[in-house]
Amino acid sequence: MADSDCLFCKIVKGDVQATVVRESDRTLAFRDINPQAPTHALVITKDHWPTVAELATGDPDLLGELHREAAAVAADEGLSGHRLVINTGSSAGQTVWHVHVHVLGGRGMSWPPG
Ligand code: 5GP
Ligand code: ZN
Repeated sequence: MADSDCLFCKIVKGDVQATVVRESDRTLAFRDINPQAPTHALVITKDHWPTVAELATGDPDLLGELHREAAAVAADEGLSGHRLVINTGSSAGQTVWHVHVHVLGGRGMSWPPG
């Protein structure tokens, strides 16, 4: 279930390089190329799911694994707290149509953002 035009499918295949920080049977975590915080990792499913909404319906167990792995990345990084972000739709800032959780931490993050 890979999409040959998808950047993150290419990272899963190893055709595009990434700094991998964690891997499970069905997920991969790597550092964001344009970090917005001292820790900024992306956790993705190895299967191609365009959005979290489709993943939640199609494979809820995998959605759970994605979140467990995101928490494990935060723990591996020694973060005292972290923020998970999942953009859905271009109007919300989604630019890669392969589900990914942003794991952000390592600095103070006020909410709502200023
Ligand atoms: P989105 O905007 O879809 O929520 O997040 C996509 C993220 O992918 C962005 O934060 C962007 O910096 C990151 N990104 C885009 N291209 C690459 C790449 O080739 N490698 C890595 N590691 N991250 C990328
Ligand atoms: Zn993909």
